Amino acid sequence: MEPHIDATPAPPLDAVPAPRPWSQPQPPTAHTTSTTDRGSFCLAVCSCGWKGPARRSRDVARKDATGHAATEAP
Ligand SMILES: [Zn+2]
Repeated sequence: MEPHIDATPAPPLDAVPAPRPWSQPQPPTAHTTSTTDRGSFCLAVCSCGWKGPARRSRDVARKDATGHAATEAP
């Protein structure tokens, strides 16, 4: 009995482009700050995950955000 050798070879896996798990890559140095209210307090938050201390004044929290962005920016 002869072996069957006419089988169509499967395409290599490299021929199929892998799907990207990320849709919108963000640069790690981007610091988009904003302020958020937490009860009667206000605190600064950043897109990098940083959070400032709770402040009674939104203006002070905004200064925390500005200082963080200025410190972390290259
Ligand atoms: Zn940041």
